[in-house]
Amino acid sequence: MLFSQLAVYLQKLDETSSRNTITELLADLFRRASADEIGKLCYLLQGRVAPLYEETEFGMADKFMIRAIALAYGADQSVVLKTFKEHGDLGKTASALHTGKTEKLEVTDAYIQLRAIAETNGTGSQEKKIQLLADMLKRVDATAACYIVRIPLDKLRLGFSEMTILDSLSWMLAGDKSLRSRLEDAYNVRPDIGYISETVKKEGIAGLSHVRARVGSPVLAELCQRLPNAAEMIKKMGNVAVEPKYDGVRVQIHVIRARNGGVKISTYSRNLEPTTDMFPELSEIGKEVDAREAILDCEAVGLDPVTGKISSFQETSTRKRKHDIDEARKSVPLRFFVFDILYKDGKDFLSTPLSERRSILEHTVKPGRLLSISPQIVTDKADELRRYHDEQLRVGLEGVVVKKWNSLYEPGRRGYSWVKFKEEEGKDGKLTDTIDAVVMGYYLGEGKRTGFGIGALLVGVRKGEQFETVTKIGTGVTDALWKTLQKQLHAIEVRGVPKEYDAVHKTLIPDVWTRPLIVVELAGDDLTKSPTHGAGYAVRFPRLVRIRKDKRPADATTVSELTRMFENQMSHTKK
Ligand code: ATP
Repeated sequence: MLFSQLAVYLQKLDETSSRNTITELLADLFRRASADEIGKLCYLLQGRVAPLYEETEFGMADKFMIRAIALAYGADQSVVLKTFKEHGDLGKTASALHTGKTEKLEVTDAYIQLRAIAETNGTGSQEKKIQLLADMLKRVDATAACYIVRIPLDKLRLGFSEMTILDSLSWMLAGDKSLRSRLEDAYNVRPDIGYISETVKKEGIAGLSHVRARVGSPVLAELCQRLPNAAEMIKKMGNVAVEPKYDGVRVQIHVIRARNGGVKISTYSRNLEPTTDMFPELSEIGKEVDAREAILDCEAVGLDPVTGKISSFQETSTRKRKHDIDEARKSVPLRFFVFDILYKDGKDFLSTPLSERRSILEHTVKPGRLLSISPQIVTDKADELRRYHDEQLRVGLEGVVVKKWNSLYEPGRRGYSWVKFKEEEGKDGKLTDTIDAVVMGYYLGEGKRTGFGIGALLVGVRKGEQFETVTKIGTGVTDALWKTLQKQLHAIEVRGVPKEYDAVHKTLIPDVWTRPLIVVELAGDDLTKSPTHGAGYAVRFPRLVRIRKDKRPADATTVSELTRMFENQMSHTKK
């Protein structure tokens, strides 16, 4: 397939916001692609050249793109800049300055070149990138040039994620969405849209039965549901393991032992980001893991070397740059509480009951300086569960995670196999859990906050791939946080309403719209029914707790979760 043929689809996708049209257009594109092309296409549609968990950054700034366009079309940089000012978009600028001459550029070649651009670094790399881009621009037509430019600038905003791609793969195979959940199950085990699409293109849906966890490819983390109290948990889940809920960071550790005995470690966050560089101490866990290869699911917390006390999430997550990491390693050593094992020595344990996984875990992890096995009790009694929970609150932890003892590991699912128990949910009609919402836009500030350019945020929760407003929020934000938000939000401002936002009530229209990329955690007094907010509920007295960098918009709280939180709250208020 030629890149110019793909560009025709990209243009149509750009112009529609109907989810059904997008799904059908993609299915049509996938039918026309060969088995070798489909995976690459799927990455490109996401503006990427690799799966989400591989770090590939284009690192291409506007000024370099201006030079690439100038070089490709023999134009003066001042002309490119002037055209850019007129269009406000470098993609359209390239289309406008296109000379009319084209050669043929295959999608596969475009992918290889774009990948080379992402992988080129070091001295002289910007020059090489400019040259590679100019070469590509010369070979495509005006429409295709627009998209060749947008991809490395991270400006390809087609308004859908991997979930819509999965719908479209189902559509390609079956002519409807009936295979979506099987595709999603496989994606949750191997969240690599290129690999999944290639597998089904080659082998049909049956090909997914071979999909297994493997080291080096993160498995999507199992997540917790909510239930109002201990009695409900026992009633719904039966025999359960109850573990302290540590407030740290979720880390999936992948261990590979080399023949010479050395270990290679890679780690991933719960939103699939590679985090290996954040945890250099893990290179020393060789003695603590009795396996050739293993995937461990853990929560990392800071442990005060003097008091032995567990420190907060904020301290654990200060590890951003190399310097921070070195400093943090000295002052707050980390401890990894391992609570699950997903894979060991060629065997995938996702379909093994938790009771057996726990025993495999106890035979694999040899607790030492870095790893601990999460403590737990196993019970089918509500009062015992409540007592254990209260003990955790007394020692300063958040609560407990309650896990159905015979449940399988459910990657990426928020089901009733794992339930979080902080305080009794909805006690006194209060909202005891926080909400993870996506920033949809902001209102300009008044008074003191004018300095930050932001007075309040408009935030929303998820409904499928769309976002529905749930509250405006202006309190609980420190000056430092406003500053961080201002910087991050400016980078993702857009002129029109993003496709992912359903109709926003006229009283809520923000001064500035932003792309749905930043997740914030909110606390509130309670939920009330709301005729204005798209979610159907509003948060009373919302406060911003923190930016959740470890969450993707796809991890935001959903409208159905809010409904459950509201019902839990009501069941308590009535008592
Ligand atoms: P919260 O917002 O309450 O911190 P969350 O939204 O990050 O939770 P949940 O699904 O609500 O995610 O809770 C599960 C999280 O709890 C896990 O992702 C993990 O980081 C943390 N956790 C701490 N201790 C455990 C444990 N023993 N077992 C599983 N998860 C644990």
